[in-house]
Amino acid sequence: MISFLPLGGAGEIGASCFYLNIDGTGIILDCGMHPLKTGMDALPKFDLIKDFPVDYVLISHAHQDHLSALPFLVQRHPYIIIISTPQTRALAELTLHNSVSILKEQLSEVKQKDAHSVQLKIYSHEEIDLLIQSIEYRAYGENTILKGYNHQGKTPIVATLIDAGHILGSAAILLEYNGKKILYSGDIKLSNQAIAKGSKIPSLSIDTLILETTYGNTDSTLIPKWNDEAQRLALATNRILISGGSVLIPVFSLGKMQEMLAVVWNLMLSGKILMTDIYTGGIASKIGRVYDYNRYVVNRIDPEFELSAIPVKNLYDVAQAEDFFKNPSIILASSGMMVEGTASFKLAKHWLKHKGSAIFTVGFMEESTPGFRIAKAKQGEKIRLTDFSEENEVKCEINNFRFPSHASREELLEIVNSIRPKKVILVHGNQESIDWIGGAILVNFKKTKIFQAELGKEILIEKMEQNYSSYK
Ligand SMILES: [Zn+2]
Repeated sequence: MISFLPLGGAGEIGASCFYLNIDGTGIILDCGMHPLKTGMDALPKFDLIKDFPVDYVLISHAHQDHLSALPFLVQRHPYIIIISTPQTRALAELTLHNSVSILKEQLSEVKQKDAHSVQLKIYSHEEIDLLIQSIEYRAYGENTILKGYNHQGKTPIVATLIDAGHILGSAAILLEYNGKKILYSGDIKLSNQAIAKGSKIPSLSIDTLILETTYGNTDSTLIPKWNDEAQRLALATNRILISGGSVLIPVFSLGKMQEMLAVVWNLMLSGKILMTDIYTGGIASKIGRVYDYNRYVVNRIDPEFELSAIPVKNLYDVAQAEDFFKNPSIILASSGMMVEGTASFKLAKHWLKHKGSAIFTVGFMEESTPGFRIAKAKQGEKIRLTDFSEENEVKCEINNFRFPSHASREELLEIVNSIRPKKVILVHGNQESIDWIGGAILVNFKKTKIFQAELGKEILIEKMEQNYSSYK
């Protein structure tokens, strides 16, 4: 008997966490934290499995919404076996240590408002060290036998990690049991980025596909080809730099930072962008080194390319934000959605005041974030970055670019087409995204049953009936 229970990341991009009970072996796929929530609300609903077997957690990649609740899961289940790629393990060490102090700060604010969050026990750097040491790492394609304490089946489960092409170390997770295969996509991308090569999902006959739907509601004609978009970025950037302005590019520190640094540097080397100072900060340089160490062991566009060879300056060495405007420069700062309190949010406030400078967005913006407000703003308009902040006049140029690290909706259907699963469970996307993918599978793959994952709703995979019938 195989049951599936979403603990988070159903019907939204949030705390991805899915529980599978395979004949008594409890396997958790991902253990993320909601990036825009705080306290208990940001965590997966671990209470739902308090009476169930919990033996393994497999982490698809090191992004916050797939990894960061892991220390809280380990507090509850100290004997759980954690499995990831070696690259995800190395990145997790950096990002989880980095989040210790951020969480402490966040929680002290939350606790004042919400007594409920007191239940949340903050973890220490020592606990993270122990957690990282305990991660069992597996290379892409290596088989791992999973057999829980209460496993009732005659045969064990075999798990394999497959390169997902999303960020360094990202993996789709394949579970095989009694001749049936379950594939969890994690976050996946089929086409190439600047550093990462796209995923090649082997054409296996899959029984159940658990599929992300991030770009389901995005019209792909609005997403130019990566190289065309790089040329457009070059033209726009050069225009600003030549006239003496500076360009702020908000990015996520893991993945997007490294890809955009590679894009900008390659454009500089080819003479398409003026050679100017590039600033980055935070844990970007440490993450860059992990990318570099692994350049020969994972799929790369150019294994010789090294991020640490790019001459970058540390943005935290600049005494005042206004100093960035003394000379033309390019600043890559996190967070990608300019969340309040982050470096990109603070810098954006200064950028808005400077007429000859520009903010160029390069990724997805959640509607509730300051990044979304800035991305939509027109020059000359007055905007509030948050509901409670003062109005800012938008004097700088705003331009939006697309360098996605997720599959387009056509690529998601290509995955369905190549493996022809009997059942698809749709996760990691908003309702519109799920509707587009669900609708398209319904029309094009008539033998595939479609199931929209619902938080806290357990289903038996063998008996799964389609709960998705048409566009809602
Ligand atoms: Zn991701």
